[in-house]
Amino acid sequence: MKSNFFSLTTVELGIPELRSNVYIFEYANKVNLIDTWYWDLSWLITSIKNNYPTLDNIFITHGHFDHIDGLMKLLEVFPKVTCHINKEEARFLDDSSLSLSRHFRLFENYRKNFSTFRWGDIVDWVKTISTPWHTIWGTCYLVEEYNVCFTWDTLFSDNHGRTDLPTGDYDSMRSSIGKLLTLDPQTLIYPWHWPYGIKLTEVRDSDSEMLKHIFEV
Ligand SMILES: [Zn+2]
Repeated sequence: MKSNFFSLTTVELGIPELRSNVYIFEYANKVNLIDTWYWDLSWLITSIKNNYPTLDNIFITHGHFDHIDGLMKLLEVFPKVTCHINKEEARFLDDSSLSLSRHFRLFENYRKNFSTFRWGDIVDWVKTISTPWHTIWGTCYLVEEYNVCFTWDTLFSDNHGRTDLPTGDYDSMRSSIGKLLTLDPQTLIYPWHWPYGIKLTEVRDSDSEMLKHIFEV
């Protein structure tokens, strides 16, 4: 029997070709956001305030600017929120050449709100899974009880994430994908772009040429 209440809000943004998904979920009495948006955050702040009592956690998948740029604003609006990031990936917050941003030394400014974890740690009932390839310390987040895995920029429904950006590592992809495939086959993936809520088995069995070669043994 499922013990903790879970609800997920998804917001789709941008033009269809480049559509991005932002995920807010309530689980085990905590309100959580996966990554942040960039640019204008007013819609996101309104959505959180209208639908949830507060914001407890921000789980950062990786440190590219489009995933962290909204942190400054969100930490201002929700001063008690804790931001969770892999201990090594946290250096992206200090380094604009890694984050691909031209400004901010975010980690220094907001250090009090940050909490770092090591892969495998469980944070407020959410499991951290190491999936290096899009960035070398990138993390997927798993709500195991509900078979929900936030795969962000690593695995999409018919493609995998880029490996040509700083610290990206194509060779790590196969073992990381292998790790995801050990999850319950009914697990639904929630990527940063395009369709979401797709079963892992459907992704594995898809006709995508981009994915076929990494799923081949
Ligand atoms: Zn990225």
